[in-house]
Amino acid sequence: MARPPAARASLDYNKSNVSGKTFYLETFGCQMNAHDSEKVIGALMARGYEPVDTPAEAGLVLYNTCSIRDKAEQKVFHRLQQFQREAGKGKIFGVLGCVAQQEGERIFERAPHVSLVAGSASYTRLGEMLTQLEAGNRRVTGLSLDIDQAFETPFTRRDNPHRAYITIIEGCDKSCAYCVVPFTRGPERSRAGESVMAEARGLAERDYTEIQLLGQNVNSYRDPSPAGWDFATLLARVAEIPGIRRVRYTTSHPRDFGKSIVDAMDSNTAICDHVHLPAQSGSSRVLAAMDRLYTRDDYMRRIEWIKTAKRRYAITTDIIVGFPGETERDFEETLRLLDEVEYDSLFSFKYSPRPNTAALAMEDRIPEEEKQRRLVILQEKQRAIQIRRNAEWIGRTAEVLVEGRNPALGQWIGRTSDNRILNFTHPGGNGDSLAGRYMPVRVTRSGPNSLVGESASMV
Ligand code: SAM
Ligand code: SF4
Repeated sequence: MARPPAARASLDYNKSNVSGKTFYLETFGCQMNAHDSEKVIGALMARGYEPVDTPAEAGLVLYNTCSIRDKAEQKVFHRLQQFQREAGKGKIFGVLGCVAQQEGERIFERAPHVSLVAGSASYTRLGEMLTQLEAGNRRVTGLSLDIDQAFETPFTRRDNPHRAYITIIEGCDKSCAYCVVPFTRGPERSRAGESVMAEARGLAERDYTEIQLLGQNVNSYRDPSPAGWDFATLLARVAEIPGIRRVRYTTSHPRDFGKSIVDAMDSNTAICDHVHLPAQSGSSRVLAAMDRLYTRDDYMRRIEWIKTAKRRYAITTDIIVGFPGETERDFEETLRLLDEVEYDSLFSFKYSPRPNTAALAMEDRIPEEEKQRRLVILQEKQRAIQIRRNAEWIGRTAEVLVEGRNPALGQWIGRTSDNRILNFTHPGGNGDSLAGRYMPVRVTRSGPNSLVGESASMV
């Protein structure tokens, strides 16, 4: 799953604060967290809280945290230490998200100036928790995982004016041996199809043109209402909404990735030309140890469906190197997987031991230096593949959604349907006037991570 950089609540929206209550929220981790933060900000603003730019200006300082790897988890404790002295000056600190769920009340011991600890499954109780904090309660928790509702708020403060996230499924019922998500986000629960459709239609009415359907495993989606839609049906329906020009989805679990998803993509070009299908390893032996529920052959069958589809789809993945017991031979199988699939891009990680997970008890830990060596080899191989694949774009014209401008380079930043960054020059454009527009761009140059081109539009 693509991970945006840590996002801060920005100030470019209406400050109609009447209560004098201010907050600062910093987000770590994946798009699910980024979108949770948008909803938390919506809930806070609906209660009269005003967002501010720095923790120093805020009455309420919140960190929405990630614990997928140890490094991500440590970041929040650094942040909390940085501002420890501010506590007692009327500031309230809160830890939200995966570290909150994982560490629970231990956070109060490690960082005694924290007053709120709440995992994402408890955000439906956010209003009640804020009431307790406002009443002066200095130990407020939301740690139950028994919630069967999705987190819906009347108002979501969205970061991007053109692309909107919609959560369709929360939590995870799989039990990959390395992963904390089932412990931090709780059991899988899908939103009713009609509720997703209503949100998507509402976004189209407010001029959003791109929708990204989110979930730890979006394709495990099963509509709990009598309609009983599966993921392919939901995807097809969202893509038919008038005004919606692009639909993306992330992340797909290979075991639940049916051919019907490729068929839905083939039948509507509004569904973007991109599938993110995390392999984790190219070795069936390691996949079994990881409890991934598919073999390399199962995975390759899905790749074959995608590669023989009617349109050309970019394929990206996640790879973990150095899982306990991964031999040199297993690792070579992963390298061969890269050659066989020729991914358009990938996220690669060194295995990080996580609390509560089955892999913690496994033997044959791979030393850190060896994990690092494998990571570098993997990334170098992938870089060569990307250089080759991106060069194939030179001379082609692609439609981009313009995301912004890079004034230093004098270029506009566009994104293609297959999720490539395509920076381009446009003789007539000035100011922010192109952002949010869809434009044809002719590719003139390529690098390992992006393309460069010039506007092919006459405007
Ligand atoms: N549900 C998705 C799936 O099954 O592919 C993955 C979601 S997970 C939040 C995102 C990625 O983090 C995973 O695909 C995996 O590559 C990586 N990851 C998860 N746990 C990890 C760990 N303990 N060490 C290293 N990488 C990890
Ligand atoms: Fe984690 Fe596996 Fe669930 Fe993905 S499917 S969130 S990797 S447990």
